[in-house]
Amino acid sequence: NNEQAAAKAAAVNADSGAPTIFDKIINKEIPSSIVYEDEKVLAFRDISPQAPVHVLVIPKFRDGLTELGKADARHGEILGQLLYAAKIVAEKEGIADGFRVVINSGASACQSVYHLHLHVLGGRQMNWPPG
Ligand code: IMP
Repeated sequence: NNEQAAAKAAAVNADSGAPTIFDKIINKEIPSSIVYEDEKVLAFRDISPQAPVHVLVIPKFRDGLTELGKADARHGEILGQLLYAAKIVAEKEGIADGFRVVINSGASACQSVYHLHLHVLGGRQMNWPPG
Protein backbone atom coordinates (compact mmCIF):
# COMPACT_ATOMS: atom_id res chain seq x y z
CA ASN A 1 0.00 0.00 0.00
CA ASN A 2 0.92 3.69 -0.12
CA GLU A 3 2.21 3.84 3.44
CA GLN A 4 4.53 0.89 2.95
CA ALA A 5 5.79 2.33 -0.33
CA ALA A 6 6.50 5.68 1.31
CA ALA A 7 8.31 4.03 4.22
CA LYS A 8 10.41 1.96 1.83
CA ALA A 9 11.30 4.99 -0.30
CA ALA A 10 12.29 6.94 2.79
CA ALA A 11 14.42 4.09 4.11
CA VAL A 12 16.24 3.74 0.79
CA ASN A 13 16.86 7.48 0.98
CA ALA A 14 18.22 7.37 4.55
CA ASP A 15 20.76 9.82 5.95
CA SER A 16 24.16 9.21 4.31
CA GLY A 17 25.63 12.65 4.93
CA ALA A 18 26.08 13.07 1.15
CA PRO A 19 25.37 16.47 -0.44
CA THR A 20 21.74 16.98 -1.37
CA ILE A 21 19.78 18.94 -3.94
CA PHE A 22 19.48 21.74 -1.40
CA ASP A 23 23.22 22.47 -1.81
CA LYS A 24 22.53 23.20 -5.47
CA ILE A 25 19.66 25.48 -4.49
CA ILE A 26 21.87 27.32 -1.96
CA ASN A 27 24.59 27.73 -4.59
CA LYS A 28 21.99 28.86 -7.16
CA GLU A 29 23.05 26.02 -9.47
CA ILE A 30 19.39 25.12 -9.85
CA PRO A 31 16.59 27.68 -9.73
CA SER A 32 14.25 28.10 -6.81
CA SER A 33 11.60 30.58 -5.81
CA ILE A 34 13.24 32.35 -2.88
CA VAL A 35 10.94 33.87 -0.29
CA TYR A 36 13.51 34.96 2.30
CA GLU A 37 17.28 34.91 2.59
CA ASP A 38 19.85 36.13 5.09
CA GLU A 39 23.43 35.25 5.93
CA LYS A 40 22.57 31.93 7.57
CA VAL A 41 19.12 30.94 6.30
CA LEU A 42 17.41 30.38 2.94
CA ALA A 43 13.66 29.97 2.41
CA PHE A 44 12.20 28.86 -0.92
CA ARG A 45 8.95 27.40 -2.25
CA ASP A 46 8.49 23.65 -2.11
CA ILE A 47 8.41 22.13 -5.60
CA SER A 48 5.46 19.94 -4.60
CA PRO A 49 3.28 22.20 -2.45
CA GLN A 50 0.95 20.55 0.05
CA ALA A 51 -0.90 23.80 0.82
CA PRO A 52 -1.40 27.16 -0.94
CA VAL A 53 1.69 28.34 0.95
CA HIS A 54 4.44 25.74 1.33
CA VAL A 55 7.92 27.11 1.94
CA LEU A 56 11.07 25.27 3.07
CA VAL A 57 13.43 26.99 5.50
CA ILE A 58 16.99 25.63 5.55
CA PRO A 59 20.37 26.45 7.05
CA LYS A 60 22.88 27.56 4.39
CA PHE A 61 25.59 25.65 6.25
CA ARG A 62 24.35 22.15 7.04
CA ASP A 63 27.17 21.51 9.55
CA GLY A 64 26.08 17.94 10.34
CA LEU A 65 22.39 18.88 10.51
CA THR A 66 21.25 16.28 8.05
CA GLU A 67 18.20 15.70 10.24
CA LEU A 68 16.90 17.18 13.49
CA GLY A 69 17.66 13.91 15.24
CA LYS A 70 21.37 14.57 14.67
CA ALA A 71 21.34 18.00 16.34
CA ASP A 72 23.63 18.69 19.25
CA ALA A 73 24.25 21.65 21.54
CA ARG A 74 26.28 23.62 19.00
CA HIS A 75 23.25 23.77 16.71
CA GLY A 76 21.08 25.61 19.22
CA GLU A 77 21.62 29.04 17.70
CA ILE A 78 20.88 28.06 14.09
CA LEU A 79 17.83 26.07 15.16
CA GLY A 80 16.46 29.21 16.81
CA GLN A 81 17.28 31.26 13.71
CA LEU A 82 15.44 28.78 11.48
CA LEU A 83 12.33 28.92 13.64
CA TYR A 84 12.40 32.70 13.69
CA ALA A 85 12.85 32.73 9.90
CA ALA A 86 9.74 30.53 9.64
CA LYS A 87 7.79 33.29 11.40
CA ILE A 88 9.21 35.94 9.03
CA VAL A 89 8.18 33.75 6.07
CA ALA A 90 4.66 33.38 7.49
CA GLU A 91 4.38 37.17 7.78
CA LYS A 92 5.72 37.74 4.26
CA GLU A 93 3.27 35.19 2.88
CA GLY A 94 0.29 36.68 4.74
CA ILE A 95 -0.43 33.61 6.87
CA ALA A 96 0.94 34.80 10.23
CA ASP A 97 -2.48 34.37 11.85
CA GLY A 98 -2.44 30.60 11.25
CA PHE A 99 0.29 28.38 9.92
CA ARG A 100 2.06 25.11 10.62
CA VAL A 101 5.78 24.35 10.90
CA VAL A 102 6.81 20.72 10.33
CA ILE A 103 10.15 18.94 10.54
CA ASN A 104 10.33 15.36 9.32
CA SER A 105 13.31 13.69 11.00
CA GLY A 106 14.39 10.29 9.77
CA ALA A 107 13.00 7.54 7.59
CA SER A 108 10.00 6.69 9.74
CA ALA A 109 8.90 10.35 9.48
CA CYS A 110 9.31 10.11 5.67
CA GLN A 111 12.20 12.56 5.52
CA SER A 112 13.42 12.53 1.92
CA VAL A 113 16.11 15.25 1.77
CA TYR A 114 18.87 14.96 4.36
CA HIS A 115 19.59 18.64 4.87
CA LEU A 116 17.54 19.86 7.81
CA HIS A 117 14.50 21.83 6.68
CA LEU A 118 11.38 23.31 8.21
CA HIS A 119 8.18 23.13 6.20
CA VAL A 120 6.04 26.28 6.61
CA LEU A 121 2.50 25.47 5.55
CA GLY A 122 -0.65 27.56 5.42
CA GLY A 123 -3.27 29.33 3.37
CA ARG A 124 -5.85 26.66 4.09
CA GLN A 125 -7.31 24.99 7.19
CA MET A 126 -4.58 22.73 8.55
CA ASN A 127 -6.04 19.61 10.12
CA TRP A 128 -4.90 17.44 13.00
CA PRO A 129 -3.69 14.73 13.38
CA PRO A 130 -1.21 14.78 10.49
CA GLY A 131 -0.73 11.60 8.47
P1 IMP B 1 10.99 15.92 3.50
O1 IMP B 1 10.12 14.83 2.99
O2 IMP B 1 10.55 16.47 4.84
O3 IMP B 1 12.44 15.55 3.48
O4 IMP B 1 10.78 17.15 2.51
C1 IMP B 1 11.54 17.37 1.39
C2 IMP B 1 10.79 18.38 0.57
O5 IMP B 1 11.66 18.91 -0.41
C3 IMP B 1 9.58 17.81 -0.17
O6 IMP B 1 8.41 18.49 0.26
C4 IMP B 1 9.90 18.07 -1.64
O7 IMP B 1 8.77 18.41 -2.39
C5 IMP B 1 10.90 19.20 -1.55
N1 IMP B 1 11.84 19.30 -2.66
C6 IMP B 1 12.61 18.31 -3.18
N2 IMP B 1 13.36 18.79 -4.19
C7 IMP B 1 13.06 20.11 -4.28
C8 IMP B 1 13.53 21.16 -5.16
O8 IMP B 1 14.37 20.97 -6.04
N3 IMP B 1 12.98 22.39 -4.97
C9 IMP B 1 12.04 22.65 -3.99
N4 IMP B 1 11.61 21.69 -3.18
C10 IMP B 1 12.09 20.44 -3.31
